[in-house]
Formats: sequence, C-alpha cells, structure tokens
Amino acid sequence: MAYRRARSLIAPAARIFKPIDVPNKLLTGPGPCNVPPRILAAGALPQLSHLHPDVWKIMDDITEGVKYVFQTENKWTFAMSGSGHAAMEAACLNLVEPNERVMIANCGMWGKRFTTMVQRAGGDAREIKKPLGEVFSLEDIEEGLKKHKPVLLFITQGESSSGALQPLEGVGELCHKYNCLLLVDSVASLGGTPMFMDEWGIDIMYSGSQKCLSTPPGTAPISLNERAREKVTRRKTPPISFYFDFKELANFWGFDDPPRRYHHTCPTSCFYALREGLAMVAAEGLEASWKRHEEVTAQFHKGLGELGLELFVKNKEHRLNTVTAIDLPKGLDWKVVQKYAMDTYKLEISAGLGPSSGVVGRFGFLGYNANLENVRRVLRALNEGLDVARKEAEKSKL
Ligand code: PMP
Repeated sequence: MAYRRARSLIAPAARIFKPIDVPNKLLTGPGPCNVPPRILAAGALPQLSHLHPDVWKIMDDITEGVKYVFQTENKWTFAMSGSGHAAMEAACLNLVEPNERVMIANCGMWGKRFTTMVQRAGGDAREIKKPLGEVFSLEDIEEGLKKHKPVLLFITQGESSSGALQPLEGVGELCHKYNCLLLVDSVASLGGTPMFMDEWGIDIMYSGSQKCLSTPPGTAPISLNERAREKVTRRKTPPISFYFDFKELANFWGFDDPPRRYHHTCPTSCFYALREGLAMVAAEGLEASWKRHEEVTAQFHKGLGELGLELFVKNKEHRLNTVTAIDLPKGLDWKVVQKYAMDTYKLEISAGLGPSSGVVGRFGFLGYNANLENVRRVLRALNEGLDVARKEAEKSKL
C-alpha cells in the first residue's frame, strides 16, 4: 500500500511496552465487586464471532438466567452491550416519545439522572421528591400519579447514593390503575434483595452486571413485559438511537421475526462472563443469595454500631442489604480513613455520590464479596483508620 511517510512517527510512551500491571484490591465499595475465578476464566475463553450459533446459545442462556434473577417470564429479556447507564438510557429512548410525560421518583442520584435523560429525549419530566435516605410510600406515588398523569414512572429499588431500599409491592398495581407503565432500576439491588418482577407488576426493569452478579462491568440485563413491548412497537417514530433500539435488539437476541440480523458486534467475552455470573447465582439459589447478603450486611451494621458509627438510612425497614451508607463521622477527614484502608489493607471504601457527596461514607458487600471474612476486614480497617483520622484531627487543632 502506498502512503506518504510522515517525517517521524509519533512515539508511544515508554511504559506501554511493559505488560499491564493491575493491583489486587478488595472492592468493598458500592460496586464493582471482585470477580470470582470461575467468571474471570469464562471471560478469557476463546473468541467467537458474534453471529455464530455458539454465541446465540450463550445469549439464550443469558436470557434464561436474567428471567430467573428478575423472576419474570417476559419474552423480551436480554442484556444491553454497555453498563447500567446503557440500559437506563435505552429504556428512556425506547419508552418515551417527545412531549410524553414521565414521573420520576427522585430521592438521590438516579432519579435525577433519569430526569436528565428524559429531558434530553424531549420528554416532559416531572419529579416527585423525598429527602436523601428516605423512600416513597404508596400514598406519595398515588398523589404524584393523580397530579402528573404520566405514561411512565421511574423508580430505583436500591438507591446506591444513600443506601435506601425502595419497597415495590403495590407500585405496579397503582401505576396500572392510572394507565402508567412502571420502570425499575435494580442495578444496586438485584441478587442481593428480593425481586419479583412479574408478581410486582413491573413493566420494564434493568440492572447491571458488576454488583451482586459478580461480573465485570459492561453488560446490563433488561426485560420488558407485553405492555412495555406494545408501547415500544407502537411508537410513532423510531427511537433516536439505533444502537439502543429495542426492536432491533429483540431481533438480534432472537425473539422476533427470525433470522437474527447483524445489529452490532456484541462484547462476546463480557457475555460469557455474564452467562457465568448468572449461572453462579442460579447454582446458589436466589433465596440463598438474598439471605447471604442480608446476614452479611446485618453483621456489618452491628459492627458499625460498635464503632460508634451511624447508619444514614434511619428507618431499619428501608436499608439495603447491598450498599450501606453511614453519616460521615464529625470532625474527621473521611479521605484519611479511605487512604488508610487502601494503603494498609488494599481495601476500597467509598465516599458519597452526587447529592450524598460530603454527607456519607459508603460500603458494599456485593455478590462474591458478601462474606463475613470481608466484613471483619473492613471493620478492622475502619477501626484503625478512624484512629488515624482522629489523631490527624487532634494534630491540626494544635
Ligand atoms: N443505577 C444505580 C442504582 C446504580 O447504583 C448505578 C451504578 N452505580 C447505575 C444505575 C449506573 O450503572 P453503571 O455505572 O453500570 O452505568
């Protein structure tokens, strides 16, 4: 091939000649979590072409696995090629048509983010709000539905910015009474806390791979029931995104009008890993997984109390089994505690996110990481880290 040679090639930085070096850390923040060897090994299996029946078989397994963890029989059950945000944005772009009204339950980070997405999609976003750390009652929701008359309600089951668990029983029924579809974000809760998509009348739900499914980030399970599917297929105009078009994806995943057409080159290695993550949850059993997260997090909360730390969510019934937030200890620098935990124990604990920045410290015992040994390690690191932070605070007063 003829090409005109540049005067000199742009040289790569010297460090990129060395093999990649990734430190081994214990990820006990709100996600991602550490990935178990079985899932890492699955991700390293030989590459296959995305249009190959062997990959379709893996995609079919993902559909089966997602149906199980979501507890749904929905035909359109699959995984987005992208992180939780991809599923969130796809739900918005497919379900919301310009000028349609969407009600968003905002009690932290995720409602706000969905409002932004709805506005960018040309929808009419109406928020109902609760303070950070609180959740919505059925009365709050009904009042909003009566007032705003939305076509869609967005609500988050596990508000990872505050550690709050939104009860969902009865919400679907209410929405349907007011001719509204229910969209649930279960990124931070799925696999760690009970979920019954069909029984609870949830019309669309998505999650993420990197929390209680113990899989690397990059795929996002999603499911739509008949009602949601109808809304998508009856759109007046196709969604603005081709990559996120559910009708195209339904064909790609083999649900409608065969044969499967090329849509995009899916991240096959990530799909192998997701398939294996779902298989591991299925092997453990959903109820056993929920119970493990509940017991491990209860022990952690007990230990936090013994250290004199306060949980941010005051109502015990509304605390997540997956992500925990604490009130930041007064007069101490949380960064000192985080640094101590990382430097001494290679252990990750987090600060707040969005509206909870500077308000809380966050922890997570998710999926593979949800065990008592990790709880003990985090409590030990916290105890020592708090001492270091106290000493530093004393010194700065002198
Ligand atoms: N929703 C919730 C509740 C989350 O916790 C997160 C991730 N922290 C997301 C959505 C977005 O997911 P991702 O970062 O995988 O895009």
